[in-house]
Amino acid sequence: MSPAVRVFLGLGANLGDRRATLRAAVLRLREVVTDLRVSSLYESKAWGVTDQPPFLNAVARGETALTPLALLDAIQEIEHDLGRVRKQHWGPRVIDIDILLYGTERIDQPRLVVPHPYMTQRSFVLRPLADLAAGLTLPDGSLVGELLTTVAQDDLRRIAGPQWADRTD
Ligand code: ADP
Ligand code: MG
Repeated sequence: MSPAVRVFLGLGANLGDRRATLRAAVLRLREVVTDLRVSSLYESKAWGVTDQPPFLNAVARGETALTPLALLDAIQEIEHDLGRVRKQHWGPRVIDIDILLYGTERIDQPRLVVPHPYMTQRSFVLRPLADLAAGLTLPDGSLVGELLTTVAQDDLRRIAGPQWADRTD
């Protein structure tokens, strides 16, 4: 079996029962990512296409034996099963799961770019990522905790601690 690689995944939802969908996504992710831990849960204003409901966001961290593209396949299957419809780029979505980091790898393929290209500019990624790994160094040498100080966080609100994913009510 291939050795496990540490991965960080960005989760977002802004349609339907956002928290229930994120919980369902975490449950499904545990099938392909072991020792999964989640950040606190945040609410953020929509980015890019701003005329849409606010997002709930979190970051998950764990270990996987899947290759990067197999992990992307698994993630897209989960998104599909949870009702994701791909319409508008940056538009409203029931669930979005992005691969932020795959070990220390840099990947630049048509289907997959890692580290996720916008992650260092977005507080709704950096803040939950820092919950899990403030001391983490990205492949370009930048430190998550320091990057966090470079982005505005006024559109971001922490709404639950990391136990949000465990509750079943
Ligand atoms: P976005 O997350 O940019 O709003 P989608 O979730 O619809 O958009 O994904 C669009 C495409 O982005 C996917 O089909 C996937 O192949 C590609 N992609 C490139 N890099 C990544 C990544 N790091 N994580 C997830 N998808 C990625
Ligand atoms: Mg995506």
